[in-house]
Amino acid sequence: MKAAAFSYTRATSVVNALELLAAHGDRAKVLSGGQSLMPAMNLRLISPELIVDIGEIAELRGIAVRGDILTLGALTRHVELLKSPEIATHAPLLTEAIAHVAHPAIRNRGTLGGSLAHADPASELPACMVALNATVVVRGQTGERRIAAEEFFTGIYETALSAQELLIAVELPVAQENSAYFFHEFARRHGDYAIAGLAAQAIVHADRFADLRLAFFAVGDRPVLANAANRLVDVAVTPVILADASAVLDEELQPHKDHQASASMRRHLAKVLLARCISALLGRTDLGGGESA
Ligand SMILES: Cc1cc2nc3c(=O)[nH]c(=O)nc-3n(C[C@H](O)[C@H](O)[C@H](O)COP(=O)(O)OP(=O)(O)OC[C@H]3O[C@@H](n4cnc5c(N)ncnc54)[C@H](O)[C@@H]3O)c2cc1C
Repeated sequence: MKAAAFSYTRATSVVNALELLAAHGDRAKVLSGGQSLMPAMNLRLISPELIVDIGEIAELRGIAVRGDILTLGALTRHVELLKSPEIATHAPLLTEAIAHVAHPAIRNRGTLGGSLAHADPASELPACMVALNATVVVRGQTGERRIAAEEFFTGIYETALSAQELLIAVELPVAQENSAYFFHEFARRHGDYAIAGLAAQAIVHADRFADLRLAFFAVGDRPVLANAANRLVDVAVTPVILADASAVLDEELQPHKDHQASASMRRHLAKVLLARCISALLGRTDLGGGESA
């Protein structure tokens, strides 16, 4: 199928893009890498009248470290995330996760901003942003808003962005001393969207978690920052404590069923991921992390 007829314009700057979005409202759509937008248009799931191509706006590009903050421009492509030495040093969780996003041809075009604005609940990058406690920077004609990643994702393909705003950048706190991370997903084939996944960032001190952020994906309508983590912080984790955290996780997840897996299968996989994550981060073999899915 082909997309319905549409008009196309290339924005020359952020200001220009915001003017176009303000003038055309819900009838316009931003084009970034096109890897989600174009398939959706070709399937006629959406039929915008105007495409505003932001792909040439230089001010939306770039990876920079300033003090304790790593800033990633919205137009940073997946392949650039994968190859960046700054990201490998300061946010290695992202380097590991991005290798699971689609395939090289898609990673060559797809962008960070597009992935976050698209907000597929089975997507890797939104969960990483929640795990890393990122701030999403968005701009409209009336100014800039800074939104915590865990509040940015509001539902399936839904975010706090309005149709007149652009996602400009993401800011991440750089990894601290004693930082550790975990990423794993279950997918039918490498590069497919996950059936269930977990991105985690922790601070481990003297064999305990001083901080632990567990962001599950593909098990709810958005990335889930699990409260179960609270049961595991500042305690000597035992199998009983881990089982307690697992029960809390079970209560807070709302997985869906689809052609890939039932809701109960997704719950089971999430609990397997939790055990593997805690075992790996604490370097313990007695916590059930070797359990197979
Ligand atoms: C076969 C296939 C497999 C894939 N597998 C995966 C996978 O395993 N995991 C995964 O995470 N993704 C996967 N993707 C999606 C891919 O990662 C996309 O690149 C990404 O979701 C969207 O990025 P994009 O730059 O292409 O955005 P686009 O397609 O250009 O845009 C996506 C949406 O975001 C909006 N948008 C884009 N940029 C901005 C901005 N700066 N401000 C405001 N709104 C904006 C657009 O209007 C549109 O609604 C897959 C895609 C394909 C085709």
